[in-house]
Amino acid sequence: MTVPTVTFNDDREMPQLGLGTYKLYDEECIRVIREAIDLGYRHFDTATLYKNEEAVGTALKQAMDAGDVTRDELFITSKVWHSHQGEHKVEEAFQQSLKDLQLDYLDLYLIHWPNPKPLRENDAWKKRNAEVWRAMEDLYNLGKIRAIGVSNFLPHHLEALLETARMTPAVNQIRLAPGVYQTEAVNFCREHEILLEAWGPFGQGELFQNPAVQAVADKYGKTIAQVALAWSLQEGFLPLPKSVTPSRIASNLDCFGIELDAVDLEVLKNVSG
Ligand code: NAD
Repeated sequence: MTVPTVTFNDDREMPQLGLGTYKLYDEECIRVIREAIDLGYRHFDTATLYKNEEAVGTALKQAMDAGDVTRDELFITSKVWHSHQGEHKVEEAFQQSLKDLQLDYLDLYLIHWPNPKPLRENDAWKKRNAEVWRAMEDLYNLGKIRAIGVSNFLPHHLEALLETARMTPAVNQIRLAPGVYQTEAVNFCREHEILLEAWGPFGQGELFQNPAVQAVADKYGKTIAQVALAWSLQEGFLPLPKSVTPSRIASNLDCFGIELDAVDLEVLKNVSG
């Protein structure tokens, strides 16, 4: 199937659902990504922290070499982790990600975490984020990244960043799922036209035991996973589900076209997460 796209960052297209790759390694990672590409996934989310960029890169290269997909059709995100942050280290980290992924540009590059522990004293994270962002803007201007954004940023982190930013982040990737609704961050991002990506769209597995979510799924004749993803899409979030099971990788794509009514959207928003 073809995953629908959204326009963001003025004129970029992003597939509305991406495959998460956290804790996918080596051969399993390669298998999952190749299967996902066969099924129609084009958007993959990784990070330096996940220590799997090489495996992700191998899978992408294999798929491109086999003619299953072209680079233009793919949308690849990675993230810079704080140990690599600092004015001069961002470009190094970025080049390493590109090398490991065997790519010559990234579609989206994110600051992974706003305030890593070593930077919490005296709000040192503010200066560091400003420096990291500047380096990312430079890489963007050189055409090495198609869009730049952040992850796990709350409104006060974004406000601090915007004080010195030349560009507004295109994306904020945060934890969002039925029962996990970060209202202030969601409102802030909507006001500033920052696209929200939903990590952990199944509450990192918690939802599957939730009877209220099961009741909504039964009403629509769908699985819990499918209604959770449909909820994300209807909220305007881009979900990043992860699975290693072929049947689930496939069925998670069948979330497009489910129209949850207003009552069920509220039920899902407020279930205990
Ligand atoms: P998730 O909400 O996607 O849940 C994954 C769990 O759901 C797995 O245990 C999987 O077995 C299960 N699952 C998937 N499909 C299913 C189905 N159809 N039926 C039953 N069970 C199913 O949680 P996640 O992996 O933590 O998050 C997804 C992705 O988000 C990650 O892989 C990563 O790419 C991203 N992420 C980003 C951050 C960040 O800080 N930016 C943090 C965590 C995750």
